[in-house]
Amino acid sequence: MADIDKNKSNGSNLPKGNKKNPGGVKINPKFNLIYVYGFLLLAFFVIQYMTSGGAPVETSWQEVRNTMLKNGDIDKIVVVNKSQADIFLKEASYEKYKSKLDLGIGSPAKIGPHFFFTIGSVDVFEKNLESAVAEFGEKSKVTLTYELRHDYFTEILSWLFLPLVLLGVWFWVFRRMSKGGGGGGNIFNVGKSQAKIFDKESRVSTTFKEVAGLAEAKQEIEEIVEFLKNPERYTKLGGKIPKGALLVGPPGTGKTLLAKAVAGEADVPFFSMSGSDFVEMFVGVGASRVRDLFKQAKEKSPCIVFIDEIDAIGRARGRNPNMGSNDERENTLNQLLTEMDGFDTNSGVIILGATNRADILDRALMRAGRFDRQIHVELPDVIDRKEIFMVHLRPLTLSEDVNVGFLAKQTPGFSGADIANVCNEAALIAARKQKTKVEKQDFLDAVDRIVGGLEKKNKIITADEKAIIAYHEAGHATVSWLLEYAHPLVKVTIVPRGKALGAAWYLPEERQITTSEQMLDEICATLGGRAAEELVFSKISSGAQNDLEKVTKTAYSMVCYFGMSEKVGNVSYYDSSGQSDYSFNKPYSEKTAELIDSEINEIIRTAFARAKEILRNNAEGHKKLADLLLEREVIFTEDLENIFGLRPWGKKKEEEKSETPVEGQKLDFGPEIEKV
Ligand code: ADP
Ligand code: ZN
Repeated sequence: MADIDKNKSNGSNLPKGNKKNPGGVKINPKFNLIYVYGFLLLAFFVIQYMTSGGAPVETSWQEVRNTMLKNGDIDKIVVVNKSQADIFLKEASYEKYKSKLDLGIGSPAKIGPHFFFTIGSVDVFEKNLESAVAEFGEKSKVTLTYELRHDYFTEILSWLFLPLVLLGVWFWVFRRMSKGGGGGGNIFNVGKSQAKIFDKESRVSTTFKEVAGLAEAKQEIEEIVEFLKNPERYTKLGGKIPKGALLVGPPGTGKTLLAKAVAGEADVPFFSMSGSDFVEMFVGVGASRVRDLFKQAKEKSPCIVFIDEIDAIGRARGRNPNMGSNDERENTLNQLLTEMDGFDTNSGVIILGATNRADILDRALMRAGRFDRQIHVELPDVIDRKEIFMVHLRPLTLSEDVNVGFLAKQTPGFSGADIANVCNEAALIAARKQKTKVEKQDFLDAVDRIVGGLEKKNKIITADEKAIIAYHEAGHATVSWLLEYAHPLVKVTIVPRGKALGAAWYLPEERQITTSEQMLDEICATLGGRAAEELVFSKISSGAQNDLEKVTKTAYSMVCYFGMSEKVGNVSYYDSSGQSDYSFNKPYSEKTAELIDSEINEIIRTAFARAKEILRNNAEGHKKLADLLLEREVIFTEDLENIFGLRPWGKKKEEEKSETPVEGQKLDFGPEIEKV
């Protein structure tokens, strides 16, 4: 392969030399070749024409018998391939038939054959000939010979046709594939790694300053920069430089950004590649790309190799042995493992991987000596969000009413990428309104838009539907306002947005653990919409589907994951390792399955009754709220306070909030909207 590449580059170098030396006698080799081919082809046709002359003229057996044989004009007849009789005239008789034979170009050569006719079978032809000779006598006797003639040209062509077509198709497919992989259209590059390289010429300019928050992750990763900058400090003491680190965290939290910052700060070449870049349809390509990537990296060491979305190749092997379709990915992974083992610890190549699914990665990938460090990159909390906002607000022209702390509070559950998006969206909204500065309201609109989709003011909704939506949303608002552990409400609208007809915005607290009371209150508030419909209109609508889905999921996780059902007990059927296939066989018996179903049902039924109870006891407030919604289309916390009074437990909560986060599993409820 390398040879072919070399030849190619030589070929393209040659014309350059000619340009420098126009008077030179060198002939462009490409042109030369075309001329040679042209000449050969021409010569072929000329020879063909000269030797065989034109084709003989077609005639029929009757004509041959009644004229030529009768007059004794025929010298010999050659039966070609048992199907055609070529007739050679006697030299003396040639003149007689000249008028028939003289056709200009393409007329038969003088030596013959002059005529031909097609025969059905050789036997019949021989019999006919014999009888004719018997009839016309001695002078009509002819020499009869047989000949098997190959038409090599057409024969070879027909033989070559199919392979040529196949070859053409194959080349075309190959070219397209390698182009798709970014291989620049050269089929010989298919096995080359597709990594983007940032080195001296195209430097990564990202620095740690641009990465806001993520204090712990930054600290760990800064150490890697230290390794690369002065490795002696560590090797002198006998320590080994880590080979790789895995950045784990939800999408958009800045993993790529961190990796880039490492490269920018350490001032070393940076190879960037996505896990899916390795995988192609061809067997062996992935492994070959891995090999090539490491070869390049070793040449440029010290350097950093960054593999984004490493789960695309690093997924645990052999989970579905009978599927058999993942062989290529496994080969790629095996090669990656081999390469990571293969290079010298202190060679100065550090592999950074990023994934949001560390649980599905192959265990072999994470053992010491490969990705021996795992760096967790979590969704930012209030303080981190404030810092991220500061980074992304820098390029915007802001009005005075924009408060970074307030924005950070309004965006729980947002990732760094979401925040960058909010800032950009706010600027666009402000620009659309011809403002000179981006105002607070623009940011709020941007948040709403990102959470709930675009407002659709002109969706057609009948008055009846509107009333149902208003009471439904007011139901959510009322119930959640009056439940201690439900998320505090921010606003409710009945303006259609995205796919939803109405929405309630909550500001979830950032919890590290969630108690069963909180979950039950959550379920109750979510059922408030349907409960309101049933109480007010005595009928229910399809609008609560989204609510019910959420409720079912929460109840299911309470029973099956968090051990919150007394009857089922303290068991969790959650599989955080992702190793076993629960989807095919459940880890519990039929009896337990029934119990789980009945427990889920019980939770939801109780919560629904509670929601109805609350609404019945506060029917007046609920109606006021619904009327206000119908009138104004949007209501805020203040309106709820006016109707129901302050939430008695609101104050207490504020104080509690400053507590240190509790260790444990993080339940991510994110910013929520209730859809009708
Ligand atoms: P990931 O690789 O984790 O999916 P990225 O690193 O690609 O996420 O982040 C996408 C964008 O989000 C970044 O380009 C940056 O603009 C923004 N971003 C994410 N996290 C941060 C952060 N901690 N500080 C500043 N910007 C961030
Ligand atoms: Zn609802």
